[in-house]
Amino acid sequence: MKKIKIITTGGTIAMGKDQQTGQIVPKLSGLDLLKQVPQLTKMADLELVQYANLDSSQLTAPMLLELAELVEEALLEEEIDGVLITHGTDTLEETAYLLDLVLDIKKPVVITGALRSFSQLNSDGAANLVQSIQTILNPQSKNKGVLAVINEEIHAARFLSKMHTNNLNAFSSLNCGPIGTIDHSGIHYSYDLPAQITIHPEELEERVEIIKLAIGSDDRLIQAALDYDCQGLVLEAFGLGTLPEKIIPGLTRAKKEGVPVVITSRSYEGRVYNLYGASGGNADIRDLDLIFAGSLTSTKARLLLMLLLGKNLSQTKIREYYLKLKS
Ligand code: GLU
Repeated sequence: MKKIKIITTGGTIAMGKDQQTGQIVPKLSGLDLLKQVPQLTKMADLELVQYANLDSSQLTAPMLLELAELVEEALLEEEIDGVLITHGTDTLEETAYLLDLVLDIKKPVVITGALRSFSQLNSDGAANLVQSIQTILNPQSKNKGVLAVINEEIHAARFLSKMHTNNLNAFSSLNCGPIGTIDHSGIHYSYDLPAQITIHPEELEERVEIIKLAIGSDDRLIQAALDYDCQGLVLEAFGLGTLPEKIIPGLTRAKKEGVPVVITSRSYEGRVYNLYGASGGNADIRDLDLIFAGSLTSTKARLLLMLLLGKNLSQTKIREYYLKLKS
């Protein structure tokens, strides 16, 4: 029997109803979780580690690095064939992406969660857990980086986004669709992935902010972030990456102070790059040393910047990483 380590962190999959308030709260320990789905222990030899039992809104970036260390230790154990992480769905894509960036992964690593607790109608925890183990046991799941298994789909960490607040079909792989699907006949992968670049950080820089732009935005939030010692900025700009003219003084200051500014888009799909030359468009911002983040969402671009700043890299090197990204 194959051996799989399960690392639990919390989320709806480990929640239940509070009888007094009627709300859904953290309840199940890692062990309780396994007891909900006895079938799992027939599929593989499971070893359990409870990292936390938290709503995923409470996780922090340093905790993700700690989690990555746990996963790495597990992967280094010869007898372990793969790792499954259970997680709240709200920030699952961030954890998946950070793990994908920092782990040099050959064995399958899967992250899953649930949109319904075991005490709710249409509970999806059991199916997601069973299908996650099925995915880990499939030889084709090796060398694919971190995979998220949820609602009969397999998503590569680099493309994964939670697109719906609470639907069972909440996750999508932006730009390309799921890398695989799961049905009664088994697991079916649809495309191959180039290997992810790997970053080996000792620590990460937490002082990196995301600012979303809207019609009429000026640079006040940028100035405020710089006043508060922000070390890196990620902007959610318009479309291909255009910016309103009024934010240029803030960006000029960021350049002067050596604070890297990464551009992502408010649009969900597609890439950002320099195309438009109109006033307030990219012609005016060419001298600002902005870093374009390809098709990365702002939350993923932020995690990458946190890791790169944690390594004390120059802006030139940081820019190279974004260019090399397989996203
Ligand atoms: N807010 C919770 C979390 O992310 C529940 C969302 C979920 O797990 O579906 O942990």
